[in-house]
Amino acid sequence: MNIQWYPGHMTKAKRAMEADIKLIDLIIELVDARLPISSRNPDIDRLGQGKARLILLNKSDLADDTATARWEAWFAEKGYYTVKLNAKTGAGMKSIQGKIAEACKAKIERDRRRGIINRPVRAMVVGIPNVGKSTFINSFAGKAAAKTGNKPGVTKGNQWIRLNKNVELLDTPGILWPRFEDKQVGIRLALVGSINDNILNLTELAGEGIDFFCRSYPGRIAARYEVDESGKNYEVLAAIAIARKCLQKGGEPDIDKAASMFLDDLRGGRLGRISLEWPEEKEASLEDAETG
Ligand code: GDP
Repeated sequence: MNIQWYPGHMTKAKRAMEADIKLIDLIIELVDARLPISSRNPDIDRLGQGKARLILLNKSDLADDTATARWEAWFAEKGYYTVKLNAKTGAGMKSIQGKIAEACKAKIERDRRRGIINRPVRAMVVGIPNVGKSTFINSFAGKAAAKTGNKPGVTKGNQWIRLNKNVELLDTPGILWPRFEDKQVGIRLALVGSINDNILNLTELAGEGIDFFCRSYPGRIAARYEVDESGKNYEVLAAIAIARKCLQKGGEPDIDKAASMFLDDLRGGRLGRISLEWPEEKEASLEDAETG
């Protein structure tokens, strides 16, 4: 038996989601395109058995396009429909209605055989905190309602948002918890700013970030800050501090300030678009995670 430690509020959220999932045909799952596996909770595959599935690779504006394209292929191979999305600007939003129809085709045909015609597909949005669920729901519900010529804004009946005659969306998203018991997952989520938990101090976290860039995107740190990125992490941070005039009173480099500035740059995409996970390198460990 697999015993896991689960704080009370997570158990409650999970129960609420289990109840909600019974009401719906389609799960719209948001993941962070920069780390599509660490930003998921594998429980969703068990919870969502028998449901149509659509995965939105969100924040794709911050991710490496090559990686995102490979992730789309990887998820498609596993039977998910996917859309590459920027929920903030709406880029990618247009193709979602079509994907929903495709994902729910089997259900609509089943209904038709039973004589049920025109019953809307019911969907809910799920994802870990900070992945963009609220941004997506607001943008998607707003646009879709306007497009179908509904009354201005969205019509809310119960807790369902009627998007058009074919789709209804539960207005509150289901919150999934990341697999933060895995330290690597925690570090990656902390790097992109998706968890507040201080799993490492700022300087250590920045050090993980420097390691990541030197391994995956060599030259980017050197180019942005005009520093030598080949030294020890501490030396690189000190060089960034000097280059950006993050200095303490005595003129010493302020490492904490440099670390915090570096992390802000990383999270805001100012060090370029990044992907922390690629399907090729993850395949083996993912299989473990999904069955574990
Ligand atoms: P939730 O906790 O899942 O509901 O996440 P929110 O909708 O509150 O979004 C968390 C943060 O991510 C907010 O600051 C959003 O503006 C930002 N965000 C959401 N979607 C995107 C996106 O596609 N690109 C970027 N760059 N930021 C996004």
